[in-house]
Amino acid sequence: MPDTASVDEPGSGFVEVADRCWVARPAPGHVNVGLVGGASGLLMVDTSSSGRAASSVVEHVRSLGAGEVVAIFNTHEHAGHTSGNSVVSQAYGGPRIVAHDAARTLSPTEAFSSARVVDLGDRQVELLHLGRGHTAGDAVARVPDTDVVLVGDLVAGPVRNGPGEGVPGFGDDCFLLEWPATLDLLLSLLGERSVVVPGHGAAVDRAFVDEQRGKVGTVAETVRDLASRGVPVDRALASARWPFPTEHLGRAVGRGYRQLPRSGRRLPIV
Ligand SMILES: [Zn+2]
Repeated sequence: MPDTASVDEPGSGFVEVADRCWVARPAPGHVNVGLVGGASGLLMVDTSSSGRAASSVVEHVRSLGAGEVVAIFNTHEHAGHTSGNSVVSQAYGGPRIVAHDAARTLSPTEAFSSARVVDLGDRQVELLHLGRGHTAGDAVARVPDTDVVLVGDLVAGPVRNGPGEGVPGFGDDCFLLEWPATLDLLLSLLGERSVVVPGHGAAVDRAFVDEQRGKVGTVAETVRDLASRGVPVDRALASARWPFPTEHLGRAVGRGYRQLPRSGRRLPIV
């Protein structure tokens, strides 16, 4: 279980969260950048939110002395996680860039639909698409030998000086109704000692993911329930209790209503 000190921002410097698995959280953006080390080099998981942040990340990778970046994996296509791709790529002579094939705004050299293995010599990293949730192209990086999973924005980690838990990124491209099942599949990969690195915030454990899955599931079920009772979408937020502050849920509810099968909707109550 990560201690509370790890909630503090580690900045550009890498903190080792498990054997040869490091995380940095460079400003601006404070997006987690993961690094997995093997005998033949490093896999970088997400590349920060700007070229400037990525330059500082590259400096810190060099000072780590753990090898060269031989592959980049993007957990999804959002700019906050991919904007350092070109800087990191240039610094390391064009390592392969891997992402799910629904991460359409990227032009990765390698796309996969369900799974891909990155061989780092003495360890294999599994890249897995567990389903849609935060975006259509979410994928996670799993390091089986040390039980670490880097999950991008499928999970929102604890935020500094905040209420303790980040709110999942319910944006215009999320798949609210599918997100709970995707987290169920993630949970099936986790044990009591697993270390889960979210896209933002400190590393968490299985119990944290389980609790957040419950809340995301509640949002999805509440949308189903309201729609099935004919509550119009513009009255949905005011018509139920929600597990997250409602200012974060407008898009989630709108997306959820649109993604319901026709049989799940009723004519509005007048
Ligand atoms: Zn995102």
